[in-house]
Amino acid sequence: MTDIKSLNLEELTEYIQSLGEKKFRAKQIYKWLHQDFVTGFDEMTNLPKDLREKLKRDACVYVVKPVKVMVSQLDGTRKYLYELNDGNIIESVLMKYHHGNSVCISTQVGCRMGCRFCASTLDGLERQLVPSEMLDEVYRIQRDIGERISNIVLMGSGEPLDNYDNVVKFLKLISDENGLNISGRNITLSTCGIVPLIRRLADEKMQLTLAISLHASDDNTRRKLMPVANKYTIAELLDACRYFFKATGRRVTFEYSLVAGVNDMESEAVKLGNLLKDINCHVNLIPVNPIKERNFKQSVKKDVEKFKNVLEKYKINVTIRREMGRDIQGACGQLRKSYKDNIEGNGKNATEKHNKKEVEW
Ligand code: SAH
Repeated sequence: MTDIKSLNLEELTEYIQSLGEKKFRAKQIYKWLHQDFVTGFDEMTNLPKDLREKLKRDACVYVVKPVKVMVSQLDGTRKYLYELNDGNIIESVLMKYHHGNSVCISTQVGCRMGCRFCASTLDGLERQLVPSEMLDEVYRIQRDIGERISNIVLMGSGEPLDNYDNVVKFLKLISDENGLNISGRNITLSTCGIVPLIRRLADEKMQLTLAISLHASDDNTRRKLMPVANKYTIAELLDACRYFFKATGRRVTFEYSLVAGVNDMESEAVKLGNLLKDINCHVNLIPVNPIKERNFKQSVKKDVEKFKNVLEKYKINVTIRREMGRDIQGACGQLRKSYKDNIEGNGKNATEKHNKKEVEW
């Protein structure tokens, strides 16, 4: 079956012609899929019935089905648990800001990066998401709330660069002028730091914001938190960031999750200040969101403020991430994990099923 929503207009045109149909049908279908967000061929009412039947036999429209939606009473944040065609579960989040509606999407089912504080990686990687599924995470929400989605962040479950081709295709489709037309400047891709793929992304020259999950200012501390640090040093990572800036002109964001007693001390802030002071960047401090499977503790407010003040002395642009949807809280991947564990019986099956949970760097 052809995954029709993952095709760009050119590919769709070729496909439609291969079915012996006229070229202009591709434009009509593309609009139905990417502007009207239909979920099946029967809704494409300006297509002849025999073409709809042909498409039904040969292609499919991948959709995500909301199985649970949680709405914050505090700030309107919405968390969506979606079921995919094969029964897998993923999550997406809608955050309402004064500058627009932002959707945080998952890029993989699970993750194999193994970051110690993250719930998304606990059961390993189940499978890659295809572009149509990532698009539908956004389309469903826009349909649901009846308002335009203006910003996308790739910060849900999964490592976007570990699903490189599908993610790049998704980025091109979501910013296509015949689709949702979201400008690259309103898209942020967050990565744990796979150095060669950061360079490859830079070469795509897309105008997006790159966010790097740094979380430490020396390799030893970083290795305790993130296995990927065994493969690439911070020096190599920062070099790739400089390359990205040179290639795209886009300032890089560094995410730094503060874990009490591990990376939140004043001395660590000084080290981070020295490391980043010459880079045109933005630092986003995130008090770690503790997950029950690990015993990392969140930094206290006073330490977070102190950390920020130190970085500001180095003239670094710093923000503390505002916590959205506190009443429906759950760190990255926690909602999916608890839903899955309930269904599978405390996650026992999940753990047995995945014998290779992490990449060995
Ligand atoms: N794989 C990508 C994107 C997903 S996670 C990446 O690593 O960047 C988005 C951000 O949330 C990352 O910076 C990640 O390190 C951070 N994160 C994950 N779990 C967290 C937790 N429990 N508390 C605070 N930050 C967390």
